[in-house]
Amino acid sequence: MTRTATHCPYCALQCGQWVSGDGTVDARGGGLCQKGWTSGALLGHPERLTTPLLHGEPVSWDVALGFVADRLRALRAEHGPDSVAVFGAGGLTNEKAYLLGKFARVALGTSQIDYNGRFCMSSAAAAGNRAFGVDRGLPFPISDLDGADLVVLAGANVAETMPPLMGRLQNARLVVVDPRRTPTAERAIASGGLHLQPVPGTDLVLALGLLHAAVVDGHVDSAYLDDRTNGFDDVWRVAAGWWPERVERLCGVPAADIRTVAGWLGRSRRRYVLTARGAEQHAHGVATVTAWINLALALGLPGREGSGFGTITGQGNGQGGREHGQKSDQLPGYRHISDPAARAHVGAVWGVDPETLPGPGRSATELLDALGRPGGPKAMLVFGSNVLVSAPGSGSVAERLAALDLLVVADVLPSETAMAADVVLPVAQWAEEEGTMTNLEGRVQRRRRAMSPPAGVRTDLQVISGLAAELGMKGFPAEPESVFDELRAASAGGISDYAGITYERLDAGEALHWPCPTPDHPGTPRLFAERFAHPDGLARMVAVDHVESAELPDAEFPLRATTGRVLVHYQSGAQTRRVAELAAVAREAFVEVHPDTAQRAGLDDGEWAEVVSRRGVVRARVRCVGTLRPDTVFLPFHFGGLQSANLVTNPALDPTSRMPEFKVCAVRLERATVH
Ligand code: SF4
Repeated sequence: MTRTATHCPYCALQCGQWVSGDGTVDARGGGLCQKGWTSGALLGHPERLTTPLLHGEPVSWDVALGFVADRLRALRAEHGPDSVAVFGAGGLTNEKAYLLGKFARVALGTSQIDYNGRFCMSSAAAAGNRAFGVDRGLPFPISDLDGADLVVLAGANVAETMPPLMGRLQNARLVVVDPRRTPTAERAIASGGLHLQPVPGTDLVLALGLLHAAVVDGHVDSAYLDDRTNGFDDVWRVAAGWWPERVERLCGVPAADIRTVAGWLGRSRRRYVLTARGAEQHAHGVATVTAWINLALALGLPGREGSGFGTITGQGNGQGGREHGQKSDQLPGYRHISDPAARAHVGAVWGVDPETLPGPGRSATELLDALGRPGGPKAMLVFGSNVLVSAPGSGSVAERLAALDLLVVADVLPSETAMAADVVLPVAQWAEEEGTMTNLEGRVQRRRRAMSPPAGVRTDLQVISGLAAELGMKGFPAEPESVFDELRAASAGGISDYAGITYERLDAGEALHWPCPTPDHPGTPRLFAERFAHPDGLARMVAVDHVESAELPDAEFPLRATTGRVLVHYQSGAQTRRVAELAAVAREAFVEVHPDTAQRAGLDDGEWAEVVSRRGVVRARVRCVGTLRPDTVFLPFHFGGLQSANLVTNPALDPTSRMPEFKVCAVRLERATVH
């Protein structure tokens, strides 16, 4: 049987897959995790959406798109263009992300577009842009990690989220920063490294303590600081006040461990500092990532072959999804929507007067909170995102969705959000469509069609193109390569410049990392070798200091809840919860609790508990874990309904990135009365 070379539908590692016409999945050029191996179960899944639904009833595409277009026209006429919102996703291909951004700005004329990447990547992106002048998750090829001697993983649980990546770290001593003893933390201990277990919300001060120890013990690279950075003196003025014993008092990590890790960082030859959601999903996430970047810069790591700083992007197209204009403040090529030159360039590619392009809109959490309120959007189109499970404070998100005049959801399966929609549009999934995805190292990869979508299903590009046509707009192609060629022109000269990347080059097997400005350019696997992307070529070190989490424990809510992932599920679980083999491993939510904490709450292992915050209640089965901090409980965020972790999370936002504080909120634990 013919096999088609494509990539896994899930995370940003984008492992290579062979997919056969009957939906059989095989590994291509490396390993797959359990999620990747079982992804074929999504093809031909009995719950697959195969016909448009209008108020729950099957209708034709003409009826569905006609209804949506009529409602959008009426709302826009009565309330203006910003009465319609668009919500995208970090799992959409580059082509979809691009066309969706253009559709919002040109066909709808709305500023109200954002996407779920705001929930997972925006703090790392903002910190990377500020420090280096460019945001690419790994500014070096991922294969560089094969030779690492020491890797610090700050808030990353890659042994569960992207297990094949662990193969690249097997020769390294690992240091894992995480309030939980995750499988990654276990590997750190086995590697001769350390598991540092801070109080949730105190990662920033731990990074300051490591910098303090590195400076005091003479591990700073002074020549690098002089030649390649500015701002160290201001950074040190803050870090000087965070000696390891003081850091230990605040975050609970032993001062001796801080000094040990600083010594390893100073003495190892090939060293990396990598952050992920644990460091980023805070109301001070940009500052926290900045603190880790400052540490890496002080040690002279970024831009030096065999060392570096990076952030481990989560969603499948988490990198490309934040480059092409589905973010509220952004135009394609990672251009800023308020920049007159960017507006002129993109306006010319789109054939519109730049003056007609809307300005920046609300960020994802603020957008969801404004739905149906006076002055807020009255309709929303959602592509590939399950906001009812993935957004913070999901109880109030349900209220806001219910307050809309029109909710339209394009999805593959009946996610919780799709089931709340007025109109559901069934779309093709990964092995049924063509396109490109940009992985965590900024390498653009081809997604290829191995089979036709089921009858009645359209691609997202066909849906966007069809809606634009219903609204009387031209210039919205549905053919992926045509969209990509337009994206190349729109990105030309921008930070993430794809102008030289073509389907032909990718299909010929070239490994192309952006920027790649011309068809004869080899791409840029390694950034910052000579200079950083600021006009002066220097990296900017920005002084940051400890900030308390937005919500601290008190007598009523004495515990800190943190959230994260498990091995067998991806994001909101809308796909993986429907794969029998994966659901059999983790069918329901659980709350990890230290045995002493469970005993104080009168709970035994396996009993149903209620985790209560100021915003809501999650019902989950108690899982007693002796290695967890007694002041902390952990909830996986892959489950919906009464088991949705985001019923309790805090929508407090980072002032710069507008990322919500998923990683810490105050809760109490009670015995569940019903389950
Ligand atoms: Fe690879 Fe991620 Fe897919 Fe697992 S989920 S197979 S790690 S791309």
